[in-house]
Amino acid sequence: MELSRRSFLKLSGAGIGVTALAHLGFTASAYAAGDELRIREAKESTTVCPYCSIGCSAIVSVQDGKVVGIEGLPDSPINRASLCSKGQSIFQVANNERRLTKVLYRAPGATEWEEKTWEEAIPRIARLIKDTRDATFVETEEVGGKQVTVNRCEGIAQLGGAALDNEECYLAVKFARGLGLVYIEHQARI
Ligand code: SF4
Repeated sequence: MELSRRSFLKLSGAGIGVTALAHLGFTASAYAAGDELRIREAKESTTVCPYCSIGCSAIVSVQDGKVVGIEGLPDSPINRASLCSKGQSIFQVANNERRLTKVLYRAPGATEWEEKTWEEAIPRIARLIKDTRDATFVETEEVGGKQVTVNRCEGIAQLGGAALDNEECYLAVKFARGLGLVYIEHQARI
């Protein structure tokens, strides 16, 4: 096969380009003529990875109500665009047919779950919290022969999870302390 100098340079350039794309994680087929990035029409917003306390930031691309892309946020001083394998999989939290999207309630002694609305669930939860707190609240305790004020609720415990971000944790603990809870824990310590 005869190769002119011009053809040789063209072929070499194409080869170098394909190799460079491959190094960046792209396949040649992804860049075939007419192909478009799947996040081209998506709306981007930022989020925080819920899986560990490092708190890496990510860009979430959403199209037609579905997550179509996750990538590390370059502006984040914590992860600077990188995400570990768990962080790269956080789209599965949203795109998951097993994700609960409705309130489920199982009555005492029942074996089946039934769907409830938030309008039904929230007052019920609030009522149970208030009743339990009132029934188990300890105002004073004897210490060294004297009654001292302790104001604590011993009937409710709170368990936090790594899926809560910093601000949610702050609010959750404020709420718990406001009720007088002393049994406050986090899943990561169990
Ligand atoms: S991306 Fe990985 S390291 Fe970063 S917060 Fe998520 S789980 Fe932790």
